[in-house]
Amino acid sequence: MLIGLLSPALVYALVLALHLLVPGRWTDGYVLDPSTGKPLRYRLNGLRVHLVVLALYGLACWQGLLPWDFFFVHRWEAAAGACALGLVFTLSVVLGAPPVPGQSIGAALYLGRLENPQWLRGRVDAKMYLYLVGAIMLELNVLSFTARHLLLHPADPSPGVLLHAGLFSFFLTEYLNFEEVHLYTYDFFAERVGFKLGWGCLVFYPFFYCVGLWALAEEPNPHTPTPLLVACGLLFFAGWGLSRGANLQKFLFKTRPGAKLFGILAPETVSGGGKHLLASGFWRLSRHINYLGEIFMALGLCLSLGRPLSVYPWLYPLYYVALLFPRQHFDDQRCAAKYGDLWARYCKKVPYRIIPWVY
Ligand code: NDP
Repeated sequence: MLIGLLSPALVYALVLALHLLVPGRWTDGYVLDPSTGKPLRYRLNGLRVHLVVLALYGLACWQGLLPWDFFFVHRWEAAAGACALGLVFTLSVVLGAPPVPGQSIGAALYLGRLENPQWLRGRVDAKMYLYLVGAIMLELNVLSFTARHLLLHPADPSPGVLLHAGLFSFFLTEYLNFEEVHLYTYDFFAERVGFKLGWGCLVFYPFFYCVGLWALAEEPNPHTPTPLLVACGLLFFAGWGLSRGANLQKFLFKTRPGAKLFGILAPETVSGGGKHLLASGFWRLSRHINYLGEIFMALGLCLSLGRPLSVYPWLYPLYYVALLFPRQHFDDQRCAAKYGDLWARYCKKVPYRIIPWVY
């Protein structure tokens, strides 16, 4: 009981220690440091830390020091422990920061006060650390929940559960591999660090994203036909292609404006007043084709479990719809204010918000 409760604190401390110790590379971010006017610097080593934690988990289980299904057996206590950490983190990061003029205490606690806090002379960036621990704790949960399934059904495991775990592991490893691209996202330039981001990464991300496996890991093999599993994999990778492709194209455009995507696709823009908006490739399909990709990936993951009549796996793609449709709305408002008439011209050229020819 107590060890389950403490397990997230131990994992998060281990990730912090590894993040500080494992060699990393420094890079410029997209957000400007208000004190210098120059891009904030980040020390990145997420993929390496991820791989070291996985190796340690595998070794501990293999040596019999930790049951393979530890995080499944203790999932409720672990989620409660993470909840407490999320609250302590929120209170300390918000109440320890100077108030933002005009912001209520409720808004401060929920949305945060500090935009991009960094500690230990920039070696730890709050947002990058939060996303790193969230991803690693989620991966441990996914692996441990899958292990639970395999331990309970050794003779007839569900290929769908294995596919689900494989796709999720790909999703997390690939995200950490492209960690730098994440520096150019909404979370970094538009959000502060409070309950939403802090509790979101310490609790919601690692413990809710695996809701399908959380609920269904102990169920027997549903014997989903292989062509349906292949279709789930294809849906996931179609989504990944849209999301990763769009994010990479924008990253390239912001860092090397004239460069061709994949060496072939020259950027076309809507331009004016010295500002430019991408209007080719992925960014010609809709203004947030990356959000559609994210939803496709979530659908592929949900359906791969082979239990479409259970409500739990659906909570994951539904969460993305609830998150990304309002986010598109707010991002468009932000861009309309930032780009003015240029944004209106861009919207004429790229009329669809998320789903080409539909929405
Ligand atoms: P975007 O990457 O679409 O970033 C939006 C910003 O990009 C705008 O504010 C604007 O900022 C710039 N921009 C918009 N249109 C153009 C254009 N045509 N040309 C050039 N720049 C443009 O959205 P997010 O940051 O919200 O999301 C990033 C990724 O993260 C997405 O793939 C999303 O799905 C994913 N995501 C994943 C989540 C998860 O839990 N897995 C959760 C949330 C998001 P600027 O001021 O720089 O011009």
